[in-house]
Amino acid sequence: MTLRILLIEDDPGDAGLIEAYLRPARFSGQAPQVMIAASLNEARGMLKERSPDLILLDLALPDSAGLATVSTVHGLAPGIPIVVLSGHRDAEFEAEVLEAGAQDYLVKGEFDPEHISRAIRHARTRARLEARLKLQDAALRAVANGIVITDSDAIIQWANPAFTQMTGYELEEALGRKPGDLSHSGLNDPSLYENLWRTILAGQVWRGELVNKRKDGSLYNEELAITPVRNAQGVIRHFVAFKQDISERRANEEKIRQLAFYDVLTNLPNRRLLLDRLQQALASRGRNHRPGALLFIDLDDFKGLNDTLGHDVGDLLLIQVARRLTECVREGDTVSRLGGDEFVVMLESLNGTLEEAALQAEMVGEKILAALNRPYLLNGNEQRSTPSIGITLFNTSHDNIEELLKRADLAMYQAKEAGRNTLRFFDHTMQARVEARAALESELRRGLRARQFLLYYQPQVDGLGRLTGAEALLRWEHPSRGLVPPGAFIALAEETGLIVSLGHWVLEQASRQLVAWAKNPGTAHLTLAVNVSARQFRHPDFVDQVLAIIDHIGANPHRLKLELTESLLLDNVENTVEKMTALKARGLGFALDDFGTGYSSLTYLKRLPLDQLKIDRSFVQDVLQNTNDAAIARTIIALGHSLGLPVIAEGVETSQQRDFLASHGCSNFQGYLFGKPMPAAIFPSA
Ligand code: C2E
Ligand code: MG
Ligand code: MG
Repeated sequence: MTLRILLIEDDPGDAGLIEAYLRPARFSGQAPQVMIAASLNEARGMLKERSPDLILLDLALPDSAGLATVSTVHGLAPGIPIVVLSGHRDAEFEAEVLEAGAQDYLVKGEFDPEHISRAIRHARTRARLEARLKLQDAALRAVANGIVITDSDAIIQWANPAFTQMTGYELEEALGRKPGDLSHSGLNDPSLYENLWRTILAGQVWRGELVNKRKDGSLYNEELAITPVRNAQGVIRHFVAFKQDISERRANEEKIRQLAFYDVLTNLPNRRLLLDRLQQALASRGRNHRPGALLFIDLDDFKGLNDTLGHDVGDLLLIQVARRLTECVREGDTVSRLGGDEFVVMLESLNGTLEEAALQAEMVGEKILAALNRPYLLNGNEQRSTPSIGITLFNTSHDNIEELLKRADLAMYQAKEAGRNTLRFFDHTMQARVEARAALESELRRGLRARQFLLYYQPQVDGLGRLTGAEALLRWEHPSRGLVPPGAFIALAEETGLIVSLGHWVLEQASRQLVAWAKNPGTAHLTLAVNVSARQFRHPDFVDQVLAIIDHIGANPHRLKLELTESLLLDNVENTVEKMTALKARGLGFALDDFGTGYSSLTYLKRLPLDQLKIDRSFVQDVLQNTNDAAIARTIIALGHSLGLPVIAEGVETSQQRDFLASHGCSNFQGYLFGKPMPAAIFPSA
């Protein structure tokens, strides 16, 4: 390729000289082709038509002069190397000329053919390099990704506008600082940085994701690739980081997740997420064996409400139902919406046996029934809605998910058939038990109102067989079941809280009995033991209530003894001691009932202000046959002695049992041998 040179020179002498100089020159082995323009105007046309490869430019033209000539020509032919031919040497001017776009500056009369050829060659090379640099610079600036160049100490040397846009830091602010100092959020795992440095110092590219902080403090997700750059000697001197703000991508992923797993209207987990969690629950259940429950909830006549009040109002109802359901369950439980007016609640990690789990699930079900029965305020109008609930339990990893849902759904339909606004269990025996329990509960309440309860009294005697008092034992005179023993209803009364009013009544009745006994010299000395259950004792007002009853009825507190069990005493010892001390201050006594059946801790026992230990009936029963029971009974008696507490044995049915216990130091007795529990009317007097 022939090099085409445009010589812009108005002086024909100079032009001729330069032409002559160039004649022997060879560029890439070829003689150049020289065109001459005698004015800027003429050059303009030639630049356009002849597209020269290089310009030799005289700065004193008839139609242009000085620096402006360089700028104009450079503007007309950007990228084409210019060698200026100046009339005089002036270092300052020379610099300006190069700045204006020329590649070299020769002073007329000071160069020979050799000079000019070299100047042309260098100008071409320089122009090529400059063009490439310019292109790279423009490209780096234009790239949408943030680019940061640091030295090997991670000090920022350069960054592009996209970096400024991403981080909020101008180039000037970033220069001389480290990227980490600028954007450290504290949210990335330190091991991430360790790995990053290990990788790039080993000369490899590190790719990863960071959560970084912008200048304004906001956070963003950054996808980052850092490339080490080696110098000619192979030493790592720089790092180039290529950054991309992927916050939006992350936000979109989150949005997709939200859409895929959550119900748009209520924000509850949808069917897919429910099935996923159910799957996990079943898998983990195989390990820890704790049962769970599914409650299938369907609103009664939701369609009717939707049709009459419109979908918008229907939606409002669903949103409120979702909120109420969520309030009915614990943290780890799942409330989901399958669609329409169908919700499923999954209870995880219920306690104990399937039957206990059923009771817990039922309690949650009842809670949901009550919560969803409360009136709704929809668009300013009060509306009512009720649910039907189907419950099924699960506890093995063999349970099939779809099958479980179907069971809960079936149970829900049974609830609908049973008249709606109710709950049903899938399992018939569960259902039967839950129903029996519910019936018993309402009968208990009714019984309490209808005064179906009464106290029996069982004699207690001393070592000589003399009557010292009695234990009051509760009986329920059920209209159809007859006399019901406490074993059949005390636990339920505890669970439902009914024990508090029941216990209140027992204390009143016992106090009245003491008052009655006090009137008769034959019974005035008798003490009365009353059983107190845990829930009753734990009630914050227990002490005040007991004292109020005694005062109101006018019983002698010194004749009243409360029987507490080990488990009750050891749960929250501080509070127990406090209550016992308060009551003891008024003269009441305390017996430790069923002693030996729990996990008595002697250290605690010493701290409790007790008056009596009661050997449980189960040890007395076989005390003559079973050496183990005999050893326990003896130990309890010895323990009582060491604590200075008298011991009473309950359930003594034979004189041999009494004699054995007496021979080991037991001082008091209770049992069929001395009298069964009986109504007050036939209770003996001394
Ligand atoms: P407990 O306090 O250990 O009562 C002793 C139980 O043993 C009574 O059963 C009594 O009838 C029975 N018993 C007494 N002597 C003999 C005997 O020689 N042989 C046999 N086989 N049994 C004997 P009961 O009346 O069925 O009471 C059972 C439990 O119910 C009581 O155990 C007590 O924990 C609870 N209970 C009874 N009344 C009340 C009450 O008013 N309030 C509370 N919270 N619990 C009560
Ligand atoms: Mg008792
Ligand atoms: Mg007992």
